[in-house]
Amino acid sequence: MEQSPYRRVVVKLGTSVLTGGSQSLDKAHMAELVRCMAELHQSGIDIIVCTSGAIAAGRECLDYPELPSTMSSKQLLAAVGQSQLIQLWDQLFHAYGIHVGQILLTREDVDDRERFLNARDTLDAMLEHRVVPIVNENDAVATQEIKVGDNDNLSALVSVLAEADLLMLLTDQSGLFTADPRSNPDAELICEVKRIDDSLRELAGDSGTNLGTGGMATKLQAADVARRSGIDVVIAAGASAENVLKLAGGMRIGTHFPALDEPSNNRKRWILAGSSAGGDVVVDDGAVKALQQTGSSLLPKGVVDVAGNFVRGDTVRIINQNGVIIARGISRYSMNDLKKIKQKHSNSIESVLGYEYGDVVIHRNDLILV
Ligand code: GLU
Repeated sequence: MEQSPYRRVVVKLGTSVLTGGSQSLDKAHMAELVRCMAELHQSGIDIIVCTSGAIAAGRECLDYPELPSTMSSKQLLAAVGQSQLIQLWDQLFHAYGIHVGQILLTREDVDDRERFLNARDTLDAMLEHRVVPIVNENDAVATQEIKVGDNDNLSALVSVLAEADLLMLLTDQSGLFTADPRSNPDAELICEVKRIDDSLRELAGDSGTNLGTGGMATKLQAADVARRSGIDVVIAAGASAENVLKLAGGMRIGTHFPALDEPSNNRKRWILAGSSAGGDVVVDDGAVKALQQTGSSLLPKGVVDVAGNFVRGDTVRIINQNGVIIARGISRYSMNDLKKIKQKHSNSIESVLGYEYGDVVIHRNDLILV
């Protein structure tokens, strides 16, 4: 293998890669993937596996039972399948003398700052002891409301948590194409994406497989979060296990999303990763300018409207008067407080509310421009 420019890599393996499109886990292919990941691990690179396939493994293990299509059926399959899955990863890595550990997450584990830090510490401790974390969503207990929902977005959150420098989204396609390659022979691979804009989102809109949860749309969301947090992202084919080595060596296969220049600090990465903003704060043009050009904090004076339902400490979206999101940040005031102090001078906060948590609504350090 070439000398890798990376030090910590998240390998996201979709259900379609792990089953090869069949109804059961393709153990031979998983063994090949592990051979390549073990090689990276042994060269000193930290590896984190974000694995799908729990539900597929559960179905296989229970011999394809006929179940009603309810949440609890899926949870049953996930509960059975996840233990099969982790056993298999454990066995496969064990052949190379590598220990693995299981981390099951939900959206709630990253939304709350305290829990985010806990999860980060666990990952750090595992990596420090050269244990390979095997991560999946906690499907057996997670309800729709607290789920990330797809492992593409989950893998981006994990990359942010672990401060990885490369996220590989391995799938059943060779990357993102200019059209759906399954129906359009003229479709061309897009080698590098510098900007994720609406036309690209539209392009990714309907491509997906029927086995996993994600498709290209969720991969783009994941790529966006990760690259803004200073992580290189690549979407590539998982059918060739060697791609793991090639990509870690910096080879240009698949679709690359180079990390954006400004590497965010950890707190800012967290603000960016928590996608469930509690509400919106609409600001005037003066505030937009102050935030974007002079790096100021957001003052109550610049707030023209609020929406949603948030309490002090929640993440909110900062929106201009045309409805464009310009930043995300942690609000020091609740929505109810903010309704009362909007468009007022900071020095009148205490007289309006009867208390104050400081002059600013969102401090510069708790804010990230989008
Ligand atoms: N967590 C799901 C599973 O293990 C997969 C979700 C996804 O593929 O995006 O079956």
